[in-house]
Parts: sequence; structure tokens; C-alpha cells
Amino acid sequence: MTLIAQKIRITGLVQGVGFRPFVYRIAVFNAITGWVANDNLGVIVHAEGRPTNLEAFIVDIKTQLPAAAHLRSVEITSAEFQNFTSFDIRKSDSYNDEVTEVSPDIAVCEDCLADMERQPHRLGYAFTNCTHCGPRFTIIKALPYDRFQTTMEPFALCETCDKEYKDVLNRRFHAQPVACNTCGPQYHIAGLEIGFEAIPVFISKLIDEGKIIALKGLGGYHLVCDATNEEAVKRLRHNKNREGKPMAVMMASMSKVEQHFEVNAIERKALESWQRPIVLLQNRTALAPSVSNRMNTTGIVFPYMPLHHQLFKHLKTPAIVLTSGNVSDEPVIIEDEQALQNLSSIADVIVTYNRKIHNRADDSVAMEAAGVMRIMRRSRGFAPSPITMNLPVEGIFAAGAELVNSFAIGKGTNAILSQHIGDLKNTETLAFYEEAYEHFSALFRFNARWVACDLHPDYLSTRFAQKMNLPLIGVQHHHAHIAACMAEHGLDEKVIGIALDGTGLGNDGTIWGGEFFVCDLMDFERKLYFDPVPLPGGDKATEEPWRTAVSYLYLYFGPDFPFHEQAFLKEIPPEKLNLLLQAIQLGINCPLSSGAGRLFDAVAALTGLCIHATFHAEAPMLLESAIETGCKSKYLFEIEDKRIVFMKLFYLIMKDLKNQVPVSVISAKFHNTILTIILKVVKRLSQDSGLKKVVLSGGSFQNCYLLSNSIIMLQEQGFEVFAHENVPTNDGGIALGQMAIAAKRIQKE
Ligand code: ZN
Ligand code: ZN
Ligand code: FE
Repeated sequence: MTLIAQKIRITGLVQGVGFRPFVYRIAVFNAITGWVANDNLGVIVHAEGRPTNLEAFIVDIKTQLPAAAHLRSVEITSAEFQNFTSFDIRKSDSYNDEVTEVSPDIAVCEDCLADMERQPHRLGYAFTNCTHCGPRFTIIKALPYDRFQTTMEPFALCETCDKEYKDVLNRRFHAQPVACNTCGPQYHIAGLEIGFEAIPVFISKLIDEGKIIALKGLGGYHLVCDATNEEAVKRLRHNKNREGKPMAVMMASMSKVEQHFEVNAIERKALESWQRPIVLLQNRTALAPSVSNRMNTTGIVFPYMPLHHQLFKHLKTPAIVLTSGNVSDEPVIIEDEQALQNLSSIADVIVTYNRKIHNRADDSVAMEAAGVMRIMRRSRGFAPSPITMNLPVEGIFAAGAELVNSFAIGKGTNAILSQHIGDLKNTETLAFYEEAYEHFSALFRFNARWVACDLHPDYLSTRFAQKMNLPLIGVQHHHAHIAACMAEHGLDEKVIGIALDGTGLGNDGTIWGGEFFVCDLMDFERKLYFDPVPLPGGDKATEEPWRTAVSYLYLYFGPDFPFHEQAFLKEIPPEKLNLLLQAIQLGINCPLSSGAGRLFDAVAALTGLCIHATFHAEAPMLLESAIETGCKSKYLFEIEDKRIVFMKLFYLIMKDLKNQVPVSVISAKFHNTILTIILKVVKRLSQDSGLKKVVLSGGSFQNCYLLSNSIIMLQEQGFEVFAHENVPTNDGGIALGQMAIAAKRIQKE
């Protein structure tokens, strides 16, 4: 029987996920000799053996890969036969500037949890990991992925760990963060002499007693308290200066989750996935009321670090709040010094550990809509997995937007989105943005040649882009939204694009956000849009929805409308209202906005649900939470020229309010009206253009009712509907759209 040799080049997410040991094992199993190595393109294998064995070997590579690994391509070419007698794993080789993928962090696996109870050197060891699990992105400083290029570098392997690390048949073979009680990082409590063994018992007791704990996590500090203790949750909110925003909750048992929340098979799968996102679930019976405040959903996450599992062994409460360790809207804290300084006033105890976090990563957030899981915040567990594009994007830096910013760098045909950065309005977040860009440039050896950014000159991301002194490609905000969704689905053609969004600068200098486009990646036509309304006070209107409500009433019913008699304005001082009416009348600081978010704001204000917003998008979220789902009726609207006019909608809402129709019904009728608008406009645009593909994007599609029903309704009418899955529909996805548009324009040049 003749033996042959083959070179197998494997690309995808194949580093830091136990891929080489996996290849080794199946090589031995299939009687293959040769070697496997990491390089900057991915993994390369030189395989020798009988042709049938080689075939089986390749099938095994493709079908039995480790959970977190993901293959992009497997290329097989014949190679020179060298008569290898064994199969070896070769050292990493760094030879060119093409860089492969960096694994996101992976939740601790079952085997490691078991090892914490049976391996003498890992008894109760809270940093147990293996090639299938553990920290990755958050500790990686450079590629190739080797221990000395991570923040594990100061921890020299003990003899036992070293043996495991070098034993090809061991699960920890070449697991870069491998460690044990003798040699690895440990938790400690600031200012207290408590051995690491006692920490889980100690802090679970404190949590059950209603205390607040600051706990160093994988991608940053968390603040933790009993989610069933209203006093504790209230105190945490107060201390953190976070009055309104819902907080995520960690639970460890699916049956307990099912007691408190509605959870379907898709949500269950996401909760248990190795990425461990926070999954938004419908409330059934409340935990402490202050956890999700007035929202009808709660974000639930399963334990993903060994210590989380240890805590739930001792905790009496089934649920703990797990919110980011920061003050208000600043980035989550990763430095131990800063944690001591800033979190001491919030938490009763600070639990830390002596390994550095290199890349900050918040918990990711996902939501199920129309049968598909959809990322709302893309960070731990997802970043920096690339999105494969249809176009070359090498050298393109996409700066992103302003709110919930995330940027993207282009490598080959991969767009690599940064982790969730946050709102670039405070200096701390901007510093995080700049630091993350430096980290990404170093990690992926990225050299920017073009810069894509938003048209808004005041976005700090735009200013950062301008300072790079490279060819600048300005991209309209909502065109970027639609393009992001197109890129995600590999679309490069004319589509009907619907961007329902908060704010974004339009080509005409006004604020856009209720947009119906016919567009492709090159350009767009603004076919129809929500009737623009003056926003008294500009940005202030987004924080005070009552202003926008007054403005709509003024727009449609004029200055003689009895503003002072409106129930929703009873807490607004009359002088303040008069000033606002004057400003509207004179057009002082009243930029025009067609933003869908503002329309939702106005209706939330009119119904008394939200007069003042305590956080971004609170009003639309409360309006959605109020929906009477059984109600199928709706209000009326008109289309005048290109404008979708809401005069009848507001007239009928006012009438319903007068007749004391419940807010839940008004909210349902309002949402159903928006759905009707979408259907009517799509039908019209499809008739005119012959297009059948509809792309949905923009922050308003975080609204689950709106998104699910839009998809189902349009599909029923024979349209092919594309909505976001792997990148956020909010401004966190903008960078991907900017990159797609820039790539297209560069290609056409
Ligand atoms: Zn493991
Ligand atoms: Zn060790
Ligand atoms: Fe937006």
C-alpha cells in the first residue's frame, strides 16, 4: 500500500480552542504521521498515511472539532513525502502579517468543574481551565497565542501543570492559561486575611445577608447582590447612581429560571452556550422589583467562571444581580487600583485576583425574536470573532457611531468588530476607545489605509477618524445601519432598507431616523420618511420625552391646543412649558427630526409612561413593556408626498386618553400602526422597484414586538426579510455597515 503526503491548511477560529491537540488525537487515531502547527494564517498540517486514512482524518477534522472552534476553510494540497514516523505538534511560527482569529473567552467546561473536585492540585481552584475553556481574548496581548503573550505570563507553570501542558493526550495540552493552586492566580479580598479556599463561602454568606460585593470578572469588575432582596438592589442602584436601567441577573439552575421567566428552546440553548450571553427573558414572577424596574423582561446569564459556580453551591438565593462594576456610564473597571478607589463607596467588600485583564469586555446581551437569537451587545464570548465579508476590507478602519460604540478593522475579507465600547460622550469611554484601537492594531497587526466614519462632525469617533490623516469615507448613519445588516447576510444588491432608529445625521443636515430607503452598498435613495418634528432643546428632548410630545401636538394641532390641560404635563411647571412653546414657535434650538425613537418617546410621554428618561431608550422600552399583546387594533396615518404623517395617530391617541382607554391598549395600537406603515410602504416600494428583499435595521428594532411582527408580517406577504443576528441592530453594528460601504466605494474607484 502506497503512502502519500498532504498539506492541509485550515483557517477559521482554530487557535486557542484546543485545535492542535485535537488534530493530534485524530491523527493518532487514523494512523497519520507528520505534524501540526499554528501560524498566522491559522493551522497547518503535514499529514502522511494511506489515502483512505487521510480521507477519514480530514472528515474527522471537519466533523469532530472542539466546541469553540469554527472552520472557515480547509485546503488540501499534495506535499512531498518525507516518511515521518510519528505525529508531532510543532511550535508556533510567526512569519507574516496575515493574522488568524483570536478566540473569544469560553465559559468553564464541565470537565474542569469536575476537576475542581477531584484533582488534588486543583481542589476548589477557581482558575481551572483547559483547551476547551477559559479566558482568551481578555488576556491576550499578541499573537501567536502563547502563554508568554498573555497576562498569564508572570505565572510560571509548576511541575504538575507543566506535565499536563506537555502531555499531548492531556486535555490541558498546550492550554496557555493552564494553572493550579500551586502556580496560578488566586482570588483575595482587599483588606482581609481570608484564604482563597474560604472565599466562596464567605462572600455567598455576605450576599445572602444583603451585602454588595465588587467581584473581578473575566472582562471587568462586576457588582453583585441578592436579586431577591429589594433593599440590597435598591442600595446598589443608589450607590451606583443607576436609577432606571435594568440590571442583569445570574442564575445557575434552569428550573429556577423557568419558575421566574418564560424561556423557550432557543433561549435555553443561548443561556447554556459557551458564549454565555445575557439573554433577555419575559418576566413571569418577579425577583426584587427594582431589578428590572418597570420593564417586562430581565436579562439572565448563567455562570461562566469557576467562582460563579462555587458561589451558587453556597448561596441560598437562586439569583444574584450581576451588573457592571463602574460608576454610572463609565466603562467597566478592569484595573485593581481603580476598583479599590471607585468601588469602595459602592460595595461592602471587594473581591479581586492577581491576574491582569488586558482587553476589557462587558457581558454580551442577546434576545430571541422570530425564532432567532439576536445579539444586542456584542462583547465577551463574541468579540473578536470576525464577520466574513464578500468584499476585500483589508486596511479599512470603521470608526463606528457615538452611542453604544464599537469600531471595526478590516483584515483580508474579515471585518473584526471591537468589543462593545459604550457611549463616547465621556472622556473615560473615549480613552477606552483609543486604547482598544491600539490593542486591536497591535494584536491583529493592522495598518489603516482608509477610514470610514459617520457624517456627524461632532461624534468623537468622527473626530478620532479625522485625526488619522488618511483618506476619509463619510457614511450616512442609516445607510450604515442597513449596510451592516446587508453585510451580515452577504447581500450586495439593491434592497428595500428600513432604518427605524433614534438619531443620526441626514444628508440634508436634519436629524433622520424613520427612513425607508431603496439602497445598495454604494448609495441610497430616501424614498419615504417619518414626518420631521422640531426637537425643542435638541439632545435634551431625548432625555425629556415630554418635550417631543408637546412638539408633535404643536405641529399637528397648532398653538391653540390646550397644552396646559394635559394630564401628562401636570408635573411640568407652567413657565417651563410656556418657554418650550415659545421656542417651538420661534424655532429656537429646534432641529428637525424624523427619528422613530422620538415618535416612540412622544407616545410614551403622552400616555404618562415616561416623562423624563433616566437612561437611553427608556421611554420606548417602557412603551413596549406596556403592550397588550392580544390587541390587534391600530390607529390611522397618512402619506403625503414622501412624508408619513401622524396627525391622525396623535388625534386618536388623545381621544383614547380622554376616554380612559388603558395605556396597554394604546401602546398596542401604536405599535400595530407602525407595523401597518412598514407593510404599506414596503408594498409600495416593491411595486415601484420590483424588489422583494427587505432589510431591517436601527435601534428601534431592539423592540422585540416590532421586530418579530415586522419579520412575520412581511414574510407572510412574500417578502424576503433580513434582520440582524450576529451584530447589534443598534449603533453597535454601525461600524460593520461603514466598512461594507467603504469597501464598495474603494473597489469602484
Ligand atoms: Zn475546561
Ligand atoms: Zn500548577
Ligand atoms: Fe443609529
